[in-house]
Amino acid sequence: MSARHTPSDNCLICRGEQEVVIGIEERGPHERMYDYKRVLFCAACDVGELRSFSYDDFVEFGEEDDVMVWSAVLVSSDVSRLRASFACTTPLDHQCKCAQHLRAYATGVRVDKTLLPEYGPDRHSPAGRSVVSVRVTDGLAEFC
Ligand SMILES: [Zn+2]
Ligand SMILES: [Zn+2]
Repeated sequence: MSARHTPSDNCLICRGEQEVVIGIEERGPHERMYDYKRVLFCAACDVGELRSFSYDDFVEFGEEDDVMVWSAVLVSSDVSRLRASFACTTPLDHQCKCAQHLRAYATGVRVDKTLLPEYGPDRHSPAGRSVVSVRVTDGLAEFC
């Protein structure tokens, strides 16, 4: 991966470092592909996000961007609810395949996220992001 494709979990608003709240899923990093989905929280801004990062060097040139970063806002109270209700003892384990992790993955993929620009001056602009929430269904936390 080139330097500009190196993923950063920094806050889109203040650019500060963020806490990883939930590691939902991760593949890689490999030389030509890397993707992950996780929940991040910025204490300074008191706001969280559901972020999906995807790097795929195998896409045909001009077909689609090799890097796709998707994000949705999670308000602070939803991050708190997620921490309290996430029914897995290893929430930071991206490789965990328990029912809770699978539910977070399935619903996290489905909810509406905003594709962030990867190139140009507006790179990773937080403007106009969709907002998702957290609810508990059958004892498992899920995005909605
Ligand atoms: Zn911030
Ligand atoms: Zn788990």
